[in-house]
Amino acid sequence: MSVAVAAGRQAWRQLARNTGTSAAIRRTIFSLPKSQHSPFRPAFNTTSKALPRFSQPQYRSYSSGGSSGGGTQVKFWPFVMVLAAGSAGWVLLINRQKTMPPNPQATTTITKPTPAFSPAHVTVLFVLGGPGAGKGTQCANLVSDFKFHHLSAGDLLRAEQERPGSQYGQLIKDCIKDGAIVPMEVTVALLENAMADAIARSGSRKARFLIDGFPRKMDQAFEFEKVVCPAKLVLFFDCPEEVMEGRLLERGKTSGRADDNAESIRKRFRTFIETSMPVVEYYDKEGKVVKVDATPKPTEVYEDVKRKLLEKLGENF
Ligand code: UDP
Ligand code: MG
Repeated sequence: MSVAVAAGRQAWRQLARNTGTSAAIRRTIFSLPKSQHSPFRPAFNTTSKALPRFSQPQYRSYSSGGSSGGGTQVKFWPFVMVLAAGSAGWVLLINRQKTMPPNPQATTTITKPTPAFSPAHVTVLFVLGGPGAGKGTQCANLVSDFKFHHLSAGDLLRAEQERPGSQYGQLIKDCIKDGAIVPMEVTVALLENAMADAIARSGSRKARFLIDGFPRKMDQAFEFEKVVCPAKLVLFFDCPEEVMEGRLLERGKTSGRADDNAESIRKRFRTFIETSMPVVEYYDKEGKVVKVDATPKPTEVYEDVKRKLLEKLGENF
């Protein structure tokens, strides 16, 4: 189908050139966001107003050729067929796109610069560690001391799951219960929106973010850094599984979280080892990881966090 679409697009371009259509009209047809592309737009317009200016010369040349001999006819019908096939392909493609979930990447490349935030203004720290390592607790400390905005990917997903009318609610629910990772487009879009909101609310384009529990997979890391903002470093809370398990089971008594139970915890540990640890290792090779032992009590861990962060970033980061 893509060949037919390309052929159709080419044919429209050819038609536009032949008929002397202005550059402005061609721009209207070909540089709209994908969802608005319509090969039929000029045809509809021309039947009412724009026809004389847009396609009269072409029409004259075809009709005179048709009546006066086979030469032009031979060129005309293949052209019409290619145009028809291409247009049909294009319409099919557009209809299919309408039924697909939004692709934030496609939208981003067309409608705005990439990445959305510049690291010159926005400082992003990824906060990683196994489930129950204490990321949320330590992030709260950093927020009060360093004026970070704290965005927990898990919290944003849970909020989206509860949002009435969300088309991702059930998907998120299933992933969380299974300790699986929600498709990155959803999480990256939620994070980007939350960052934009926080920046808008603060009234300053300078901002610091703790992105907690993200990226949990390499594709998320690449996507986020490409379309949202490059990260300055990764704060990694290292904690043995037995310790984390004890904390999660304790938290499960009151958290109400669907994944703070023995079976989900086992799955979350597996996902963490198999999928999320490679992210930590990747950033470690880049020299971007600040690793903290998360076994001691929270106040001790925080002393270590603060000291190591300031060592790495300097007092005025
Ligand atoms: N999750 C996800 N992508 C993310 C972050 C979280 O799919 O980038 C899902 C995943 O199923 C995970 C759950 O959300 O197990 C809970 O994440 P959260 O960060 O709240 O867990 P924590 O690490 O704090 O225990
Ligand atoms: Mg958490």
